[in-house]
Amino acid sequence: MILDGSQAFGACSGGGSGVFLLRFGPVMSKHTKFVFITGGVVSSLGKGIAAASLAALFEARGLSIAMQKLDPYINVDPGTMSPFQHGEVFVTDDGAETDLDLGHYERFTHATMTRRSNYTTGRIYESVIRRERRGDYLGATVQVIPHVTDAIKGAILSLGSEDVDVALIEIGGTVGDIESLPFLEAIRQLRFDLGHRNTAYIHLTLLPYIASAGEIKSKPTQHSVQKLREIGIQPDVLLCRSERPIPQAQKDKIALFCNVPREAVIDAPDVDTIYRVPLKLRDGRLGSVILRHFGLEDREPDLSVWEDICRKITCPSEHVRVAMVGKYVELADAYKSVNEALVHGGMAHEVKVRIDYVDAESIERQGTGELEQADAILVPGGFGERGTEGKIEAIRYARERKVPFLGICLGMQLAVVEFARHVAGLKNASSSEFNERAEHPVIALLTEWEQEGKRVQRSTEDDLGGTMRLGAYPCRLKQGTKAALAYGRLDIRERHRHRYEFNNTYRDQLEQAGLVVAGTLPDGSLVEIIEIADHPWFVACQFHPEFLSRPYAPHPLFADFIGAAKRRMEARR
Ligand code: GLN
Repeated sequence: MILDGSQAFGACSGGGSGVFLLRFGPVMSKHTKFVFITGGVVSSLGKGIAAASLAALFEARGLSIAMQKLDPYINVDPGTMSPFQHGEVFVTDDGAETDLDLGHYERFTHATMTRRSNYTTGRIYESVIRRERRGDYLGATVQVIPHVTDAIKGAILSLGSEDVDVALIEIGGTVGDIESLPFLEAIRQLRFDLGHRNTAYIHLTLLPYIASAGEIKSKPTQHSVQKLREIGIQPDVLLCRSERPIPQAQKDKIALFCNVPREAVIDAPDVDTIYRVPLKLRDGRLGSVILRHFGLEDREPDLSVWEDICRKITCPSEHVRVAMVGKYVELADAYKSVNEALVHGGMAHEVKVRIDYVDAESIERQGTGELEQADAILVPGGFGERGTEGKIEAIRYARERKVPFLGICLGMQLAVVEFARHVAGLKNASSSEFNERAEHPVIALLTEWEQEGKRVQRSTEDDLGGTMRLGAYPCRLKQGTKAALAYGRLDIRERHRHRYEFNNTYRDQLEQAGLVVAGTLPDGSLVEIIEIADHPWFVACQFHPEFLSRPYAPHPLFADFIGAAKRRMEARR
């Protein structure tokens, strides 16, 4: 069982009585130092990337890190949110549906996120209300302070252990929001509980450049720090985003007005690739300032990996064009990890990757003309019927014109539908997600065609959370397939997030028509990867390989997909 922070808190205190007394319970590790990252002035300043980059700076000094995102919204997790609202839902190994910032945390570090790496207001309240109903508070009036703030502190402190040198906690939202107040109060109390030397507050702000005055302005930063101080938090470091270099005089002024040491006012300038942020923050001596605050020994960080990554991304002069056929194409954040994994795939072949987002519905209206320039076609994950016929057209185009193709999750399911319809002669093949009475449901809910006792919980009407096959599952590859060649081994583990599955009733028929089942669960029961043999590179997987791609270790499927795209680009020249 995985304890959430508040449970861990209670469990360690021997019964959960007297919440105030629990604070100094044994759950608190004396070893771990805590860094809290807040944001001011406006949202979208890249707090997640800044936090992840700072973690990379610690790792580059040989320190071990843990990370966590605290999200002030009331959804229990982002699993039910539209990608238009919230961007991608990032899935962890242990099957949590989380904020996309956790994707940055994993891509910038060697840490693996878990269920404990993301808490929302909804999740905290859910656990407090559950405890209240159980009678754990022994008749007390349950309040934001101390009960909600204690639950938040429990979640944060659960990161502490002898194995974690520094835990970095990012508070979502912008200081001044009503919603984030309990989180800010909790981190304020943690300095009181743990001490000055064990906690550091970093505030990320914006210094806007006002063209008519020709100046960078510090007033919004001053106000944002005032707002933090009202809550009782004095930042130790200010990370200042600005599109122009910040003159030293300006930094001195900010230091004086915001009561922060001069060396702790650090620029975070705009960069050409997000993977340069660790290098820029190193130049600003961010890691050193924080280690000194903690009284820890500083070492020169070894950032050669990041230098190498930036070189591989920015140096190539050629680019391949990947058409990404999806539904959420107006919002690039909706496919964040896929975008990054494509960049990593390009690094493996010293080529840039240009992504052309193609609206699946525009293919339905206007045909596949937009795909003609593509060196490769990718159909990513998705939910619901809208746009699926356009995606199927794109897949047919990729199959017939022999354009390298990668299908992910829904993209794999639609590749099976396309193959069933146009190659295996199952004219009305579909997924039961779109047509419950489909004549040939080649993709269907597991429960419709397998007996009970399987691992996937199904939705109930009043709880849509966690109703999918979620998290990492093992997969056995078939020797000699494109997938096996890409991975260079036969046993893999990949992360899932879907309700529907390949329908085994049709497996023989589809295989006889030429579909290659390249990967299944080790017991053979669920189809995880399909391929088409007579094609330069056509691979589609039921899982989401993008979640495991790292800039320092591009995912094998993305790497080989871009390799195939590059060959096509060169052949077309
Ligand atoms: N909608 C499909 C399913 O639920 C695919 C999900 C996805 O692409 N993540 O199975």
